[in-house]
Amino acid sequence: MSTRSKSATGSVGGGSGGGSTAGAGGSTVPLAVLLRREVVSERTAAERPELQHGLFSQAKKGEDFTFLKPECERHPGVPSSSFSAFGLFDGHNGSGAAIYTKENLLNNILSALPADLNREDWLAALPRAMVAAFVKTDKDFQTKARSSGTTVTFVIIDGLFVTVASVGDSRCVLEAEGSIYHLSADHRFDASKEEVDRVIEAGGDVGKLNVVGGAEIGPLRCWPGGLCLSRSIGDQDVGQFIVPVPLVKQVKLSTAGGRLIIASDGVWDALTAEVALNCSRGLPPEAAAEKIVKEAVHSKGLRDDTTCIVVDLVPEKGNLAMAPPKRQPGMGVFKNMFRKKTCSDSSSHSDREYMDPDIVEEIFEDECAFLSRRLDSEYPVRNMFKLFICAICQVELKPNQGISVHEDSSQPGNLRRWDGPFLCQSCQEKKEAMEGKRRSRDSSSRNSGSSE
Ligand SMILES: [Zn+2]
Repeated sequence: MSTRSKSATGSVGGGSGGGSTAGAGGSTVPLAVLLRREVVSERTAAERPELQHGLFSQAKKGEDFTFLKPECERHPGVPSSSFSAFGLFDGHNGSGAAIYTKENLLNNILSALPADLNREDWLAALPRAMVAAFVKTDKDFQTKARSSGTTVTFVIIDGLFVTVASVGDSRCVLEAEGSIYHLSADHRFDASKEEVDRVIEAGGDVGKLNVVGGAEIGPLRCWPGGLCLSRSIGDQDVGQFIVPVPLVKQVKLSTAGGRLIIASDGVWDALTAEVALNCSRGLPPEAAAEKIVKEAVHSKGLRDDTTCIVVDLVPEKGNLAMAPPKRQPGMGVFKNMFRKKTCSDSSSHSDREYMDPDIVEEIFEDECAFLSRRLDSEYPVRNMFKLFICAICQVELKPNQGISVHEDSSQPGNLRRWDGPFLCQSCQEKKEAMEGKRRSRDSSSRNSGSSE
């Protein structure tokens, strides 16, 4: 039996309940509208947990960087539009890519979101904006430097909604309602056959290190360069098939809140999620982050930069609706709520009407590496994006300048080159390079040339 089958705790839902005083002020607004406003504001108040966060880091190479911005606003000057952003960047071959991403990623996400969206539409548009921003950040960094790359784990928290975009092998785990949820990717070649196939198809070589005598050792790596990660920001010198397209997961916590741990592989190479959560249980975030890092360093030694951010979503005190349920803390119950989805699966939005205040609800998940799908997702605000703006870099396009993301789509019968969204010439070139299309076209023309 799963712990989820008992669901008698929460008290938030229940439709239009509770003492309505809708008619106050004698205005002519229809009663139904007032009632609805009241239900919405009641719900919003109950869905704003207090955030507490802590950070601890022990450096070996000095290539881990963090971004902590607990107070941001969707609409500047409007406190009710607040959200929080946390990021972890584990750099390699230098720290340029990590620093550049830390400094630019949030701005790129925000500029990929249309202005004036309401909260619901903003949250629905966020996954696509994160994809565009990761690609733009990677593309812009290319003009600064060729070597250095970074993992990115970027978390945006708005009320009970947690949205995580990730490339590389830093991780974000959530403990809520007595279960542990993995909210980030593990983009190591060792972890995904699908990613190995994608990179080989795009022109990369993936294999283990060959030592003298022919023995293969260590993890799967991409050659030349020897990178173990299949996705990152930067790594221009390795090849464009090491793409910056993130896994994006969006969940809605129950009103009981939860704890997020965002940490670099220095932590995860030493500790499982369960151990990290258990060893820090009951500690405030700052002390918890320190405890987790020290535990990791104690068990494996300081072999790598080891960084941990802990974020608690705490039910507001005095708010009965936020009373935590009486459940056992997680004892290694891994919830497999996310069905593994591939690029050939269609919808990735769950039914947004479904509202159970007592469980962690999956809203969105997509890891597909191809932009034609990621920029074209069928979320409700699709039509709010202006057609004549590049979907990645947001530059304005003149008529006839835009190139449909469906241009050179390999799926027969699905060629919709007159359909948006559109890319500018330079972002289209980036997309082709990431998918290895230019390379395969070049090599096929070379082949047909040499066969004559
Ligand atoms: Zn562009």
